[in-house]
Amino acid sequence: MGSDSIQMTFGDGKRRVFPKGISLGEALKATDEAEQAWIAAQLDGIFVDLNTVLEADATVEGLTADSQKGLDILRHSASHIMAQAVKALFPQARIAIGPAIENGFYYDFDVEKPFSEEDLTRIEAKMAEIISRHLAFFRKEIPREEAIAEFEKRGEAYKVEILEEIPDAMVSLYQQGDFVDLCRGPHIPDTGYLKAFKLTSIAGAYWRGDERNRMLQRIYGTAFGDQAAMEKYLHFLEEAHKRDHRRLGRELDLFSFSDEVGAGMVIYHPKGAILRHILEVFEKREHLRRGYQLVIGPTLLKTELWKRSGHFDHYRENMYFTEIEEQSYGIKPMNCLAHMLIYKSRIRSYRDLPLRLFELGTVHRHEKSGVLHGLLRVRQFTQDDAHILCMPEQLHKEIQDIIDFVIEVMGVFGFSYDMEISTRPTKSIGTDLDWERATDALISAIEDKGIPYTMCEGEGAFYGPKIDVKLRDALDRRWQCATIQCDFTLPERFDLTYIGVDGQRHRPVMVHRVILGAMERFLGVLIEHYAGAFPTWLAPVQTVIVTVSDAQLDFARRAFERLRDLGVRVELDDRNEKLGYKIREAQMQKIPYMLVIGDREVAAGGISPRRRDGTQLEMMSPESLAMLIEKECLDATRGKVGLGII
Ligand SMILES: [Zn+2]
Ligand SMILES: [Zn+2]
Repeated sequence: MGSDSIQMTFGDGKRRVFPKGISLGEALKATDEAEQAWIAAQLDGIFVDLNTVLEADATVEGLTADSQKGLDILRHSASHIMAQAVKALFPQARIAIGPAIENGFYYDFDVEKPFSEEDLTRIEAKMAEIISRHLAFFRKEIPREEAIAEFEKRGEAYKVEILEEIPDAMVSLYQQGDFVDLCRGPHIPDTGYLKAFKLTSIAGAYWRGDERNRMLQRIYGTAFGDQAAMEKYLHFLEEAHKRDHRRLGRELDLFSFSDEVGAGMVIYHPKGAILRHILEVFEKREHLRRGYQLVIGPTLLKTELWKRSGHFDHYRENMYFTEIEEQSYGIKPMNCLAHMLIYKSRIRSYRDLPLRLFELGTVHRHEKSGVLHGLLRVRQFTQDDAHILCMPEQLHKEIQDIIDFVIEVMGVFGFSYDMEISTRPTKSIGTDLDWERATDALISAIEDKGIPYTMCEGEGAFYGPKIDVKLRDALDRRWQCATIQCDFTLPERFDLTYIGVDGQRHRPVMVHRVILGAMERFLGVLIEHYAGAFPTWLAPVQTVIVTVSDAQLDFARRAFERLRDLGVRVELDDRNEKLGYKIREAQMQKIPYMLVIGDREVAAGGISPRRRDGTQLEMMSPESLAMLIEKECLDATRGKVGLGII
C-alpha cells in the first residue's frame, strides 16, 4: 500500500482505502448511507469528531443519535450552540460550563439580570439561525498558557479559572463561527447536525455548586436526533408535570408539609388520611387472609438492643436517638426487632412455623434535606412490613407465596412490574451453604412462576440475597416497591431456635418483606399513576351532591344521609355558590360521581348520577347508586373491596 493512503476497518469488518489527510467525515461520504448518519465516531476506541483528519490505519466505529453516547454528544454540542446564541444576544454574559445531562443539557451563564421566558424564545430563534448556517466545529490544540491568554482577552474569567486548574500542558479549544469554548469534545461536525432541540427552563445555580460563590443563570434544554423523538419526550414532560403528586396533593387537599413541623414529615389532611386508611384496611385484610398475624411494636427501643442487632454499627447515621431517665433509646428505622422478640417470647416448635408477623410499622430514617422529595423521599414513613420465620425447607414455598401476593396486589392497582434478584456481595456474612440455598430458593420461586427477571450479581444485602420488584406506572416510569430479603444474621444474633421433628434445636430462616413498601411513597406513585383521578374504590370522595339552588337543600340532605348510611363516601356541597362553579370544582376534584339535584329530581324523588367522564346515568334511587358503586369497587379489586371499608 502506498504511503499516501490509509486503510480504515469499519465496525462490520469492511475495509476501505482512503488518501491520507482526508477527514473522517469526507471519508464517510464514500460509504453506505447508514454510515453517513453518523454524528461522531470511535477511532481505535477513542471518541472523536468526524472532522478528525485521518493520518494512519485505524478501526472506526460510528455513533448515531440512536445511541446514548451519540445523544450525549449531540446534546453537549447543542449547549455550545446555545452559548454562542447567548453571547450573540448578550455580549456581556460570561460563560461557565455546559455539559450534557440525563435527557438534555444545560449551560451556566454569569449575567447581570436573570433570563426571562421571552429571552429563551429569542435564544432559540438565534440558535435556529446558527444551525441554518452549518458552522463547522473546529478543534484546535494549543498550550494551556495560550488558552488562558485567549480567554483573558475575551473576558471569560470562569474559563480562565478552569484552565488554571488543568494540569495538562496542551488543551483543546473548539470554535464554531466566532464562538470559542474550552472543551475536550467530541462534537457534531457542524451546527446543521442539530435537527431537534428545545430550551426547557431557567434556574439559578451557584458556580461550582457552592453557595458561597456567585449565583449563575442556568438554561436547561433538550435535543434529539429527530423531531418526533423530541415531541414524544416533551409530551412526557408535560404529562409528568400534570401528574406531579406534590401539586395534585395540594389541589386535591390530600397532604402537606410544614417548615414549622420539619422537613420530610407528612401531614395527612382528611382526604389523604382516608386514602391511606383504605390502603391500610385493604392490606390488613389481604395479610390476614394469607395467614399473617397482626402485631404492633414500639417506636423507641433501647440503644443496647440496636447494638445487639447490628443496626447501631451499620445504620447509626440514619437513626435518631433520644434519652429517657439517663437511658439511651433509638427511634426505630426498621420494624424487625420487636418481631424477633415476639418470636423469642416462647419456645417454638416446627409446628409453629412458618410464623408470619405483619405490622404497618412507622419508622424514621435520617435523609439529607437535599434529597427529600414530596412523598417519594421522606423522613417518617410507614411500611407494610412483615417478617417470616420458617424452616429452611419451607423457604421456597414462602417466597412463592410472597411473589403471588405481589402479583395480585400490583394487578389491583394496574401496575406492571419487573423483578430483580440480587446475589451475594463481596462483604457479607453467612455460610456458602446458607447463601446458595437462599439464592436458589429465590431463583426457583421466580422461575417456577415463569416470570422474567434480571440478575444483579453481588448486589444483595450483606446479610442475605433479595428480590426487588420495580413497578411501572402509566408513564412507564420505574419505581421500587416490593422487596423480599433473606436474612441469616438476625436469627443468629438473637439466637432464635425451634425444636425440630428430631427434638433438636434448629435455626429458623428469616425473611423481611414489604409489598407496597413505604405507604407514603406508594401513595405518591399512585397519585401520579392515576393523575389524581383515583378509581372509585380508592377515591376519598366517591360522590358529591350539588344543588341547583337552596330550594333543593332538604332533599339533597336526605340523599346525602342515605348514601352515607349505605357506606358511600359522599360529600354535600351546600355552599351558596353558582351551580356552574360547584360543578367545575367537583370536576377539578376528580370525584367519580356527581349528583346534580334540581326540581326534576325533587319531584321524582330520585338522583341522576353523572360519571367523571361525563356519562349521564338514568335517574335512580340512592340504594341503586350504592349498589352500582359497590359493584364497580368489587370488580376493580377482584372482589376484595366493596363499600363500608371505613
Ligand atoms: Zn464541548
Ligand atoms: Zn425487617
